[in-house]
Amino acid sequence: MPTETPEQTVEQAPAQTAEKPARSLSPSRASDFQQCPLLYRFRTVDRLPEPPSPAAARGTLVHAALERLFDLPAAERTARAAQGLLPGQWARLQEEEPELAQMFSGEEEREWLASAAALVSRWFTLEDPTRLEPAERELRVEALLESGLLLRGIIDRVDVAPNGMVRVVDYKTGRSPGEGFEGKALFQMRFYALAVWRLRGVVPALLQLVYLGDGVVLRLEPTEADLLATERKLEALSEAVERARRSGDWRPRRSKLCGWCAHQALCPEFGGTPPPLPDRVQQAPVQLPVEPAEVAAIG
Ligand code: SF4
Repeated sequence: MPTETPEQTVEQAPAQTAEKPARSLSPSRASDFQQCPLLYRFRTVDRLPEPPSPAAARGTLVHAALERLFDLPAAERTARAAQGLLPGQWARLQEEEPELAQMFSGEEEREWLASAAALVSRWFTLEDPTRLEPAERELRVEALLESGLLLRGIIDRVDVAPNGMVRVVDYKTGRSPGEGFEGKALFQMRFYALAVWRLRGVVPALLQLVYLGDGVVLRLEPTEADLLATERKLEALSEAVERARRSGDWRPRRSKLCGWCAHQALCPEFGGTPPPLPDRVQQAPVQLPVEPAEVAAIG
């Protein structure tokens, strides 16, 4: 286990260091392709920019505050301390991504920061950080499957009990999915559990999704059979991505989620025309980036 600061930590499959695998998947990009292959193409192949959104930026900010809170001694990890981290983290994020600063007028920014503070505050009704010592925070994982598919992602928190039991925790700043709609969220958690299993040889005992939007916690105790099924699903998804890449057939799949798509103007479903595929796509396998925003969306 590397000993760098949490944001620098990368847990890697040893074989991955020798040669970069041709195929990789992250939870966000897997979700994109499942939602709409053309959306996947716009984000991952064309790498089209998207305007910053207040909701995504708030997710990133809240995640940063919850992560940094654990730098404090246990007794000092109060809601007030966590909220006190928000202005400094917001300044840092704007410095790293100056376009974030353009999203708000002065009053809007105050209200937005207050909404972030409310989410942070709600977390304290769900977990008690004075009783937690995470083994990892913002852990970047890269796990190479036997097939050559590389799983990549960022896990918000990993807790390891004295008996070695592993708990994988993810924060979501939105509301929990309604009953019967938890599948997509839990798929992401199984993705992380599979990565941890492949890297450490231990199936996490518990996967925990903490929804700060409405104060709901989803828990799942994965089994090896669950994770093997997830592995098969990811392999099939990766093969579908490769087929689309080879054929250039990135079909749009219209759904109610199109309302949140930043690329409607280029989408045939809305009368648009996608740009020509970049030349490099014809020569090189697609590498899927892991984005910081994935924490938010993987919040
Ligand atoms: S608008 Fe809808 S169908 Fe078109 S690319 Fe975006 S998500 Fe896909």
